[in-house]
Amino acid sequence: KLAEANGHVLFDNLVFEYEAGRPALKGVTIEAKPGQSIALVGHTGSGKSTIMNLLCRFYDPTEGRVLIDGTDIRDVSLESLRSQIGIVLQDTFIFSGTIRDNIRFGKLNATDEEIVEAAKAVHAHDFIMSLKDGYDTEVQERGNVLSMGQRQLLSFARALLANPRILILDEATASIDTETELRIQKALQTLLKGRTSFIVAHRLSTIRHSDMIVVLDHGSIVEQGSHDEL
Ligand code: ATP
Ligand code: MG
Repeated sequence: KLAEANGHVLFDNLVFEYEAGRPALKGVTIEAKPGQSIALVGHTGSGKSTIMNLLCRFYDPTEGRVLIDGTDIRDVSLESLRSQIGIVLQDTFIFSGTIRDNIRFGKLNATDEEIVEAAKAVHAHDFIMSLKDGYDTEVQERGNVLSMGQRQLLSFARALLANPRILILDEATASIDTETELRIQKALQTLLKGRTSFIVAHRLSTIRHSDMIVVLDHGSIVEQGSHDEL
């Protein structure tokens, strides 16, 4: 079992092949100190999602290892590992049900107060209250009651409620209006506070806010440093 993690993450010389002889990662080393925010950037197919797949143990590395607080993640149960990791994906998962249920998904025993608190913290409360039935508004998996930006804010509220030590965020590429964009940036800063995070970043504003930027190309790191250094 993984002790309540501090959130130190080390990707130690990762090599990974989905198919023999075609490495998707060719020796990637990244160290994230507890609470740091790491932006992963690079062209399509450069290996960003693959690194995240290895952190969640959807696959195990061909060579190298992933350590959380010094422990090889292969030495802990999947349940223990994944309970420490929150994932916010680009194509935010909304299921059919109320807004309240959608946020509660992050912590099934959350109280209504906790749900509102999380929504307020990520600036989602106002738009929720403006909906027909507020938190009881029914949304559909593929419906369009919610804009992309609103879906993103809901997924932030959900992740905040789950309170993981480590957060993976695959940032949406869809264009969002400037006001929503600003709200999302603020919400993101709230969500990231006190967690180690890996963001597959598409927005310059996100990249600028991160502690370290890792630039990948064809499975190798080609640049690594802070926004000022690069
Ligand atoms: P994007 O910006 O498009 O999301 P990415 O940087 O996340 O790209 P990866 O998904 O990590 O890129 O892909 C890295 C390499 O591994 C690519 O060459 C890709 O074709 C290959 N790859 C990814 N997933 C699989 C898979 N499930 N099976 C086989 N090859 C895969
Ligand atoms: Mg990807």
